[in-house]
Amino acid sequence: MARSESGTGDEVPLGELFGKAGPVELERMRLAVTALDAARPADQDAEWEWFAEHAQAPVPLPAVGASVVLQTTVGLYESDSDWLELELEVAWMQRGLRVGAVLGVACWCESDNHGTHYLDPMDLDADDGTSIAEAFDAATAQLLAWAGGPRDPSYWRGAAGLPQPTSDTS
Ligand SMILES: [Zn+2]
Repeated sequence: MARSESGTGDEVPLGELFGKAGPVELERMRLAVTALDAARPADQDAEWEWFAEHAQAPVPLPAVGASVVLQTTVGLYESDSDWLELELEVAWMQRGLRVGAVLGVACWCESDNHGTHYLDPMDLDADDGTSIAEAFDAATAQLLAWAGGPRDPSYWRGAAGLPQPTSDTS
């Protein structure tokens, strides 16, 4: 198993993780990290997780699954049985380096429990120093747009046509 490290956004070693990115690209990514951390609820610690040994492309690239380079989750809402969260992930997959951004909302389907439903996932290819910064920026912009919307899981389930909690008598 790969060893991961975690820390605040300021502690993410972007230059080490993305060696092909130049100073301008790294600065762009640093600003995106800071902007995403600023969107977190005030009571939430900024926690990022990274795998330094995945900074270089694995040989061969993973046929299934992903070798994660950097990831974070931003919880927008959380109660005992309901949640709304953002996820950002940079990972090596079979087709190369990609940046993924998703909005996750708790499942309230009656027949099956899907855990979390991922709405409108964004999945961007990013194979070199310039494109990683562009993709990272675009993914973060999408996450910030979601964060700027209602932080109410029911709103997003409704927008996606998903079932709502039946025990909600409010
Ligand atoms: Zn479901």
